[in-house]
Amino acid sequence: MFSSVDKDPRPYLKVEIFGVDFFGLLDSGASQTVIGKAGWDKLLNFGLSMETCKNSIRVANGGQCDVLGVVDLPIRLNEKIRVIRTWVVLDIEAEIIFGIDFWRDMDIVSDFSDSSWKFKNELKMSPNLGCARGVKHGKSHVVPDALSRAIALISVTDTSLDNWYIRLKRNIIEHPNKYPKFKLRDGNIYKFVNFGHPTLDERDDWKLVVPKTLRRDVLHECHDDPSAGHLGIFKTQKRITNCYFWPGMGADIARYVRACEVCKAQKPEQRRPYVQERLRKTYGEVAQRYNRLRRRPVTLSIGQVVWKRNYTLSDAAEYYASKLAPKFIKCRVLKRLSTNVYELADFGTGRSLGTWHIKDIKLN
Ligand SMILES: [Zn+2]
Repeated sequence: MFSSVDKDPRPYLKVEIFGVDFFGLLDSGASQTVIGKAGWDKLLNFGLSMETCKNSIRVANGGQCDVLGVVDLPIRLNEKIRVIRTWVVLDIEAEIIFGIDFWRDMDIVSDFSDSSWKFKNELKMSPNLGCARGVKHGKSHVVPDALSRAIALISVTDTSLDNWYIRLKRNIIEHPNKYPKFKLRDGNIYKFVNFGHPTLDERDDWKLVVPKTLRRDVLHECHDDPSAGHLGIFKTQKRITNCYFWPGMGADIARYVRACEVCKAQKPEQRRPYVQERLRKTYGEVAQRYNRLRRRPVTLSIGQVVWKRNYTLSDAAEYYASKLAPKFIKCRVLKRLSTNVYELADFGTGRSLGTWHIKDIKLN
């Protein structure tokens, strides 16, 4: 149910910021969440750092109000915490006005007919997230669409955070100036990563920072999933760095792809060490067989009958004769001149045919 404040008929929502209760006005006409003087006074003791900005906003009565600055506030609604970028406008009376950014980031829907609201349970699909698919992690899952167009496959929820992520988030909130490349949106951390080439949309350069607990899911989604198609290391890296960031992600991706059982079984190029091993083994076998055949030590004895390769003359006059000439001529071994060289004699006439290498001699 909505809360009400001072008989004000408008819908209020009770939230908690740094453990302090706030009653915020749910204003579907406001594009931005705004904290007024009463709310800001409550937060002064928390040493929040505010980014100054030279904006002004138009309020309901038509007047212009100066924006003192912006601050990222971790707002808790029931069990859900989202860091909402909030404008500080001291001219506003309400403690806090929740704009549509809050509605969207908190994923709430309201029914004014019975003054109720609830968290939207179904996964919200953002139209410009072509690859959006629901991966459920814990109770709530949200596809944020504010900063990065690429995030889609996973969403960081309160149940999926690890200490590294929580510490980073706290540091970003407390010392935003020390983390200029990080931003919080929808409770998620984004990092600005530009690889030096221009991108069409700056939002593409903001990558969703992945907590340790979800990195395996990202790897799985971007490599193993049927739609991911088991791409190689470089393509998987490209796909993941498009959307996500975590320290050491390159090595993690390479290790993951190399260890993929499906890839090992299907794609030869993925298993270079294996292939090399096979090649080495096969070469060894072939070479052994080759050597066994070619270098088989043969010793011919004197008087042994063998066949000598018949090198015929190749000039035109002898052409037909050479075509018809026998390939081998029957001989006898006359003399052994060295390990591989023998003097042969014609089998019929006994006339010496000169010296021949073992490669031209065939056994009978
Ligand atoms: Zn694979």
